Amino acid sequence: MVVRDPFCGMPVDPEKSKFKVEVWGKVYYFCNERCMHGFLEAPRIAYFSMEIGIKSEIPTYSGGLGVLAGDTIRSSADLKIPLVAVTLVSRKGYLKQRITEKGEQIGSPDEWNPSKFMSLLPSDVRVRIKGRDIGIRAWLYEHQSLTGGVVPVVFLDTDIEKNAPEDRAITDYLYGGDDKYRLKQEIVLGIGGIKILEALNLNIKKYHMNEGHSSLLTLELLRNNGMNPDKVRNQCAFTTHTPVEAAFDKFSYDTVQELLESEYPLEILKEFGGRDRLNMTLLALNLSQHVNGVTTAHMNYSQKLFPGYHISAITNGVYSYLWTCQYFRKLYDKYIPGWANEPELLVRVDPIPDDELWDAHLLAKNDLFNFCKERTDIELDIDILTIGFARRATEYKRATLLFSDLMRLKKINKRGKIQLIFAGKAHPKDLGGKMLIKKIYDYMTQLKDEITIVYLENYNIDIATKLTSGVDVWLNTPLPPFEASGTSGMKAAHNGVMNFSVLDGWWIEGCIEGVTGWSIGPPPDEIIGDKERRTRELDDLYSKLEYIIIPTFYKMRDEWMDLMTNSIGKIAYYFNSHRMMRRYVTEAYL
Ligand SMILES: *Cc1c(COP(=O)(O)O)cnc(C)c1O
Repeated sequence: MVVRDPFCGMPVDPEKSKFKVEVWGKVYYFCNERCMHGFLEAPRIAYFSMEIGIKSEIPTYSGGLGVLAGDTIRSSADLKIPLVAVTLVSRKGYLKQRITEKGEQIGSPDEWNPSKFMSLLPSDVRVRIKGRDIGIRAWLYEHQSLTGGVVPVVFLDTDIEKNAPEDRAITDYLYGGDDKYRLKQEIVLGIGGIKILEALNLNIKKYHMNEGHSSLLTLELLRNNGMNPDKVRNQCAFTTHTPVEAAFDKFSYDTVQELLESEYPLEILKEFGGRDRLNMTLLALNLSQHVNGVTTAHMNYSQKLFPGYHISAITNGVYSYLWTCQYFRKLYDKYIPGWANEPELLVRVDPIPDDELWDAHLLAKNDLFNFCKERTDIELDIDILTIGFARRATEYKRATLLFSDLMRLKKINKRGKIQLIFAGKAHPKDLGGKMLIKKIYDYMTQLKDEITIVYLENYNIDIATKLTSGVDVWLNTPLPPFEASGTSGMKAAHNGVMNFSVLDGWWIEGCIEGVTGWSIGPPPDEIIGDKERRTRELDDLYSKLEYIIIPTFYKMRDEWMDLMTNSIGKIAYYFNSHRMMRRYVTEAYL
């Protein structure tokens, strides 16, 4: 058996290799001494994220933020960026979703067994919450790339015997519970995470906070650096994901003092985290040298919210290999060899013959339809224009915008038939989000003789790969400026699926009207009232569907093939996480 040297990626025979070390309870083999030392002593980036989406079986993510963290890890492993990721084990996941015939979401715990996928690390550490010492142990998951790169992912877990029952539950539910529960989780993630990395003796050069949930790590770093904020700033990078003030993670100082007591001086907290309440975004912002938003538009919104701070933009991307379906991978391998490691090459999509592209698309569409039939017993028609909409069910995403004028929708469907596939979970406390699901089910009934509509339960990474490759058009209708980035449309583009979206987040950068897809509503710099916005959006939504998208799909297949090609060559080549991570390395990490 041959394994790979985790430092240089070269194959080594474990039987013959003289260079092996046991770290974190695992044996690694190297081709020479230099690689072994390089691996052991390499300065690493510690990437902190409350949620990480590695695969569907590890349900420790709720949506785009976690999937982005997963794609960050996947690309880092391929590119051999020396990263170690830290997150919570979330033993009961986010939620498992079932939907009744009437459209009511029933959520239940999504329990999983960490020992099936990972090994327990020898170290454990303690954090103080409410005057009690709480033990934290850690699980190690190793993400291995085919290039030989490895990214360790550390999952923090408080479910150990010596902890009180209440404390054992801290790492149960992702985004579950009240404010106090959340703050406890953030103490475990930020402060516990730093302590675990210390216990593992890693040489950490930069701490990257993926959203503000892990900002408390800066307090522990302050303490370790003689309360010198400049020293801490030198070690920290922060990516904000929230575009509006109301959505920032904030805690009252009463709650903070109740849980943290006087672990860290209150004056320090207020100086860096805000006078009235502890604002996690502000804390990270004040103690990070590098701060970035996730698209250019999001950088601009953030800059307005925080005048005086320097905020740059690193536009998100998706991990090309995972988000390209098997049929398109085969095509790219044949015509664009090397694409998976260098997705920029997708710009050279033109040599792929139209008929091969279309066949690959139909195979992906067929797979999706078989999956829908299996799950819902609803039969979809492969020849019909199919529109997909899947993401977290929450109000600003406006999943029901397409149904605003049912008469118009019915009329359009007579000119050229459409089918719709939806998916998405609502947070258990998000009544508006649950209502959206209920409304889609109502429309399903109202339209059942005319438009086939499928709602897939329990949206996850597996379903997302099928959906973003198997529909013809990917619809996104967020209310600006709430979509900081959005990434599912980038996944669609990797599979030649056309984007039809509101101009917010990444689509402002991705959309070339009529070339890479179509926009809905006014451009982002136009100042416009709510009512007028809605009118313009509905007008685009229905008119472009009726007069551009449907006729092109049904009557101008050559033009449609050009559009599919553009989606790959003008979107996927750029909106991928390899490009994103190369930028993090040169702009945030080095
Ligand atoms: C990509 C992805 C998302 C993010 O979708 P957006 O439309 O960008 O919000 C959410 N959930 C899952 C499972 C995904 O794969």
